[in-house]
Amino acid sequence: MHRRGLLVILSSPSGAGKSTLARRLMTWDPTLRFSVSATTRQPRQGERDGVEYFFKTRDAFEEMVAAGEMLEHAEVFGNLYGTPKGPVEAAMADGRDTLFDIDWQGGQQIRRSSLASDVVSIFILPPSIADLEQRLRTRAQDSDEVIAGRMEKSMTEISHWGEYDYVIINRDVDAAEAELKTILMAERARANRQPGLNAFVRALNTEFDAR
Ligand code: 5GP
Repeated sequence: MHRRGLLVILSSPSGAGKSTLARRLMTWDPTLRFSVSATTRQPRQGERDGVEYFFKTRDAFEEMVAAGEMLEHAEVFGNLYGTPKGPVEAAMADGRDTLFDIDWQGGQQIRRSSLASDVVSIFILPPSIADLEQRLRTRAQDSDEVIAGRMEKSMTEISHWGEYDYVIINRDVDAAEAELKTILMAERARANRQPGLNAFVRALNTEFDAR
């Protein structure tokens, strides 16, 4: 029996630093696989199809859902987002861990699925609401109305923090990154996530008996 890959779910309101932390985690451990979601939203400047997202029409997205090809899906900011199931199952079978940048609705659906025991879920909180708003304002040149809408959405996202296994307050991105790595290392070291342990300890016993 070999190890099944973990499903590491990262959620946060936008502006709390989740993408930066996800990127840093992927650089630290290149064996992690980033789950590329499908979405009906338009690509932003610099985004490539199949890298940041698979960009789909609403019809194509809905066909994937109907065909049972999505592990989870949800509507966020008026667009559909979903996780294609096939690559996740392949990575799990290969023993590779997958990192998900998905919202609370997606996190909830995966935690309630048959894969629940393979999930590690982490919520990133901003240090304050003022800080979150500041980050949203400096990040995009959006109108006050758009910013207000994003803040509203952020508060809904934040209200779900209690459903997650871990919570990191992102006061300092280096410290938050260290916490994230620590969580992943600890989860990988759990006895029930190391199916090779029995054989390993048998070998230790054999070595001991031979002395
Ligand atoms: P953005 O459009 O800014 O890239 O993402 C908007 C929100 O959608 C983020 O909170 C992101 O985590 C979430 N999201 C991205 N992909 C998925 C997905 O596959 N499923 C769900 N449920 N949410 C997603």
